[in-house]
Amino acid sequence: MMEKYELIIIGAGPSGMTAGIYAKRAGINTLLIEAGAPGGKLVKTDKIENYPGVGPMSGADLAIQMYEQTQSFDLPTVFADVKALTVEGDKKIIKTDNGDYECQALIIATGTKERLMNIPGEEEFTGKGVSYCAVCDGFFFRNKKVAVIGGGNSALQEALYLTQFVSSLYLIIRRDVFRADRLLVEKVLKEPKINIIKKELPLAVEGQDKVERLILENVDSHEHMTLEVDGIFPYIGSLPCTEFVGDLPILDERGYIVVNADMETAVSGIYAAGDCTAKYLRQVITACGDGAIAAQKAASYLRQN
Ligand code: NDP
Repeated sequence: MMEKYELIIIGAGPSGMTAGIYAKRAGINTLLIEAGAPGGKLVKTDKIENYPGVGPMSGADLAIQMYEQTQSFDLPTVFADVKALTVEGDKKIIKTDNGDYECQALIIATGTKERLMNIPGEEEFTGKGVSYCAVCDGFFFRNKKVAVIGGGNSALQEALYLTQFVSSLYLIIRRDVFRADRLLVEKVLKEPKINIIKKELPLAVEGQDKVERLILENVDSHEHMTLEVDGIFPYIGSLPCTEFVGDLPILDERGYIVVNADMETAVSGIYAAGDCTAKYLRQVITACGDGAIAAQKAASYLRQN
């Protein structure tokens, strides 16, 4: 038999966990569904220093504190991968690899996953030198040479984190300007272990059993360059985790969920919060704000229906 809840929240990142806290405080019968470890991207983030009142703090520690807070409100959590979402009248049906669930109101807070380079060798050497998590794997590159790819906040933040382990680090950007915040750029420019390589794109990852080389292509001349490295950390942006949404008309052309200021989607009773929404600023603090609004709006929807 399908388990039924008034509200289901998919995703236990900062937005989903905040929504869970607000929903439980509003007395709503709520279930939180999470595919991995609670915390979302927080778990892979070295340091959070722009969340007022708690920083600087390790992302993993903040994730644990948030999760413990949800548990202090007795928020039931199921660990499952959501495969499909359908709507039947007012009911929302969620199919997962660990059972099916039904709810009246739904908050989607599934965040994003890393964008892949999609170049030869990337998949083959993932876990053998190619890593998408500096915090998880940085320690394995003690006194080694690595490359970080990308010029956004993630790439620069993780490059700075890696300098405590590595002997040297190439930071590769495809333009001649960074996308990241000025403060991070200034820190990177001052870091002697970081060598910045501009206007180059990753072309291939090569090696025998593990990463040995990264081949780059110049964006203007198309000439190739070889870097001898032991590790490659691509941080080239994110893609929304919204595949399970299927044909529901709530996504934009890039797969992000379109919400209004009340976190409502185009489908009545379905809300979205955090990084999976089409928004300007993807931060822990904005995710939490989204989650709070979504839960309050879901609560008033449930009262009216
Ligand atoms: P971003 O989209 O901000 O940056 C992606 C970077 O990768 C850009 O420099 C982009 O280049 C480059 N890039 C994209 N595609 C390719 C490719 N195929 N090959 C090579 N380079 C490529 O992503 P982030 O993951 O850095 O950040 C995501 C969001 O999270 C942002 O809103 C960011 O501000 C936020 N964030 C905030 C943090 C903080 O405040 N401390 C920490 C981490 C993330 P180009 O610039 O040329 O497009």
